[in-house]
Amino acid sequence: MHADLVTRTFAGAGWEVPTVLDAMHLADDVFLDTAGQVRMPRWSSGRVALVGDAAYAPSFLTGQGSSVALVGAYVLADALATHGDHTAAFAAYERRLRPFVDMNQALVDHGAATLFPTSAQALEQRNAGLRGLTSVPPSAPRPAHTALVLPEATWGS
Ligand SMILES: Cc1cc2nc3c(=O)[nH]c(=O)nc-3n(C[C@H](O)[C@H](O)[C@H](O)COP(=O)(O)OP(=O)(O)OC[C@H]3O[C@@H](n4cnc5c(N)ncnc54)[C@H](O)[C@@H]3O)c2cc1C
Repeated sequence: MHADLVTRTFAGAGWEVPTVLDAMHLADDVFLDTAGQVRMPRWSSGRVALVGDAAYAPSFLTGQGSSVALVGAYVLADALATHGDHTAAFAAYERRLRPFVDMNQALVDHGAATLFPTSAQALEQRNAGLRGLTSVPPSAPRPAHTALVLPEATWGS
């Protein structure tokens, strides 16, 4: 069923695509899944707080999931170290981090995912960008990547 869906979607795509589609029908382990985001109305309840994908997975389409998860864990640790009360800490964690998460999740809104351009022009732009890549990370990061300045660590020493 998955193979039929892919075959229908890419029918007439040309190039090497028909060969790939034929080979796919010989495989017994074709796997498809959706790429989704997690958008929770709140990230804590009682003494439990969520971090990373469980709270705000941005999907691999943004390329930001690990970064957002690490930043989230850092901000939560800072909030717990700063506020004596976990309820206040969880509120501070969410207040500080949510705008950063929203910006990074929005990187894929309106088909803006760099990995999967939705027009010929966007495809050409992406390919030109990859061909011209001289350094990692790029010299001009996207604003969402640097939208949060982390506090100095006040714990652990
Ligand atoms: C195909 C793909 C490509 C990606 N590419 C990128 C990329 O280029 N850059 C980037 O920044 N991010 C990328 N990501 C996203 C990134 O992997 C995630 O956002 C990140 O791993 C989230 O970290 P996490 O700790 O929140 O969750 P996870 O890494 O999912 O960790 C959760 C852990 O909990 C464990 N677990 C689950 N249930 C239980 C249980 N009941 N008991 C005990 N343990 C449990 C799981 O086994 C897992 O080890 C990609 C993701 C995918 C799927």
